[in-house]
Amino acid sequence: MPELPFPLEYAPAREATDIVQLAASYGLFIGGAFVAARSGESFMTVNPATEEPLASVAAAGDDDVDAAVGAARAAFPAWSALPARQRSKLLYRVARLLQDRAREFAVLETLDGGKPIKESRDVDVPLAAAHFFYYAGWADKLDYAFPGRQVRPLGVAAQVIPWNFPLLMAAWKLAPALATGNTVVLKPAETTPLSALLLADVLAEADLPPGVVNIVTGGPSTGAALVRHPGVDKVAFTGSTDVGKEIRRAVAGTGKALTLELGGKAANIVFEDAALDQAVEGVVNGIYFNQGHVCCAGSRLLVQEAVADAVIDKLKARLATLRVGDPLDKNTDLGAINSRAQLDKITSLVDAGVEEGATVYQPPCALPPRGYWFPPTVLTGVHPSHRVAQEEIFGPVLSVLTFRTPAEAVAKANNTRYGLSAGVWTEKASKVLWMSSRLRAGVVWANTYNRFDPASPFGGFKESGFGREGGVHGLAPYVRNA
Ligand code: NAD
Repeated sequence: MPELPFPLEYAPAREATDIVQLAASYGLFIGGAFVAARSGESFMTVNPATEEPLASVAAAGDDDVDAAVGAARAAFPAWSALPARQRSKLLYRVARLLQDRAREFAVLETLDGGKPIKESRDVDVPLAAAHFFYYAGWADKLDYAFPGRQVRPLGVAAQVIPWNFPLLMAAWKLAPALATGNTVVLKPAETTPLSALLLADVLAEADLPPGVVNIVTGGPSTGAALVRHPGVDKVAFTGSTDVGKEIRRAVAGTGKALTLELGGKAANIVFEDAALDQAVEGVVNGIYFNQGHVCCAGSRLLVQEAVADAVIDKLKARLATLRVGDPLDKNTDLGAINSRAQLDKITSLVDAGVEEGATVYQPPCALPPRGYWFPPTVLTGVHPSHRVAQEEIFGPVLSVLTFRTPAEAVAKANNTRYGLSAGVWTEKASKVLWMSSRLRAGVVWANTYNRFDPASPFGGFKESGFGREGGVHGLAPYVRNA
């Protein structure tokens, strides 16, 4: 990089946090009100950037889950019989309130989860609102969504979500379920419960009838109690493949409908004819967005041999400009790792990569003294059999492999138990089409990455799960024939 005649430093640009009013402790949202947990149990949620406790949150036990399912069941007859236009209006109201309170949600999401404020502000919150707008539009048009079919809702949906996009995953789950007339019990992840609890406030403000959405916080045992509850008609889970398998076993033979959105190990494939600078931007966005805590992250770079050195050099130069640190600073590119446990998992997988023979590159960057941090990392010399080429790291770590021919790129890209997403970078549209018809991935992005729109379905093949969220496809898992 050419030397500048003067130092170019960013001034601090910290988002104020006073817009968020945190309670010292939170109960469960059941039957339209916050109630104390019958379990008497609670846990702390911490800010992963500082390790400071934010609030105490109720840990729902079996009785609490039972009460929440009971409230959802009691609310179902009236909610499903409501004129569809009325449901539409309520969803629209939720979307508008999310927009009205966007800054509050963005700051809270960043405090609780560690993601950069520019991402919660520009991606998570606007997309969450967009999902409610989109499904508000479908609620009174189901005859068009299912031509020639009379459909009815399934009943009570149990929805369990992860910590990487807490509000957005809640929106992905709630909006289609409510639009089709189901009632819901939602369980947020234990490290990021706060934005779902703020959403409860919005649902009440929107006058959603009590019991239509219930929110139970807690860890794996709360999730397990919820998906096993006999009063549940449908289970929608987003999370790891291991837990997805466990849930599939638990609901087998119960008659409950099931959709699973699980892990990924996507290939981001760069051909020698691609616009390399744009491709490098796409590779960086693909793996370092949200610290790589993204199920569809482009965690394997497959680069054509002739341009491999050039791409890796450009990538390293770009990494040196990424800003890692305070997630509340508007200039931050990489925030905190979501939890100590996730940091340990990332560290041990990178160590395993080194042991297997990969070479690590990390740009010089000063990490804050407290909190959970991992620098942007590139692993070169990776072989397809290495753990870092096969296992989901779910952190800011890119594994680089090379290929010579399109057929080899397809073979390597599909050499994974997952099948959620892929990226193709080339100037040839014909090559994009040739590749995308052969890649076993639910989403294939061409000359871009991590693009989301509520109208576009999302979901996996193989061990990335089944069922689609988003688009008209996202309605189908919540209805049956009348
Ligand atoms: P996780 O599976 O550990 O937990 C996800 C949720 O399930 C949490 O709310 C957790 O409390 C709950 N849970 C844990 N054990 C449970 C059990 N036995 N029964 C019921 N619920 C249980 O996953 P995570 O670490 O929170 O999330 C990361 C994973 O999620 C990654 O693998 C990522 O790829 C995946 N993910 C997938 C998508 C997608 O759309 N495909 C989106 C986001 C994240």
